[in-house]
Amino acid sequence: MEEDKPLILIIDDEESMRDSCSLILAREKLATLTADNGALGIRTAQESKPDLCLIDLKIPGLSGFEVLDQIKAIDPHIICIVITGYATVESAVEAMRRGAYDFLPKPFTPEELRIIIRRGLERRRLFLEAESLRREKKLMEENFITLVSHQLRSPLVAIAQYFEVILGGIVKDENTKAEMLSKAKNRVEGLLDLINDWLDIARMNAGQIIDNLKPFSITSLLQQQMEFYTPSAEEKGIHLTLDPPEGSDRVRGDSESLEQVFSNLISNAIKYNVKGGSIRLHSRGEETWIAVTVSDTGMGIPEEHLPYLFDQFYRVKRSESEKQKGSGLGLSIALKIVEAHKGRIEVSSTPGKGSTFAVYLPKAVG
Ligand code: ADP
Repeated sequence: MEEDKPLILIIDDEESMRDSCSLILAREKLATLTADNGALGIRTAQESKPDLCLIDLKIPGLSGFEVLDQIKAIDPHIICIVITGYATVESAVEAMRRGAYDFLPKPFTPEELRIIIRRGLERRRLFLEAESLRREKKLMEENFITLVSHQLRSPLVAIAQYFEVILGGIVKDENTKAEMLSKAKNRVEGLLDLINDWLDIARMNAGQIIDNLKPFSITSLLQQQMEFYTPSAEEKGIHLTLDPPEGSDRVRGDSESLEQVFSNLISNAIKYNVKGGSIRLHSRGEETWIAVTVSDTGMGIPEEHLPYLFDQFYRVKRSESEKQKGSGLGLSIALKIVEAHKGRIEVSSTPGKGSTFAVYLPKAVG
């Protein structure tokens, strides 16, 4: 169901009925399609996957029951409401037995139609919501298997090997031992970062973010992030600047989770930058969005990687000299947060020149 406009298919042979129902539903901000016979109704349902079908049981050609059966066969979760003639309780009961959600006896008032459609759409919304949670949970489980089998297992195997070599007395030289211990420590730190990122994802609750949306100035958030990251940028000789905002800089967002988005983007811009490079933060107020960009003059990202960059655990393969520690989760966390704001995030990059990540957030009204 398109979020703001559910689609209703009206199957009825009477033109006046189709027109009046369409009109009433259009006023409810619903999209409608109509069909004047059963075969066309089924075809339209197949092609357009409506959220709800309003089916007159008495139509010429295919019977309303057959239409109902076939639409239920296309997708059992399309809500079907049948329109029944005068005093035909039996057919209403039969329709319900065949999977109709409810029935509307003729004649009915616009209000009766609105009420029954609203109820049907609410049922559909609950179903779609449960479905998306189920999908999310499945994805999380699949990714959890990747996490344990690859991301956690290989560093642990490496650490165990270092310990075995040292404890087995194979290396005698103290310097070599210290070097191995320091490598093992690095792998442990990497594991901790990975687990913390993973926990961030698991804890992130889009509903909670939506409940916390408040208007605030994105410039002050960027300013704080800039102050926080300046020391580590300077260590690499990287210059971090924040341009004055162009137009409004007030977003409607959850500042805590947006801090994490920009923290991930800025730390990547430092991590994948070059010595002596620079990073520019900029915000521009548009009609409905505030566009915030984080641009760097770093190593860039080859085009073939761009479609997968926001996937969990996806990391661009880098040459030895360009290798950096990371979990491959930072951008997927950023994307999840931005999507919970109903915003979007885009990337453009030229290998060897740098990358720009643009985050579009809803503008605060008033
Ligand atoms: P991580 O940095 O932990 O690998 P991310 O999800 O933050 O994970 O980033 C995914 C990949 O995208 C990184 O491995 C890196 O190669 C690439 N990337 C992200 N940001 C930049 C950037 N500013 N410049 C170049 N490459 C980047």
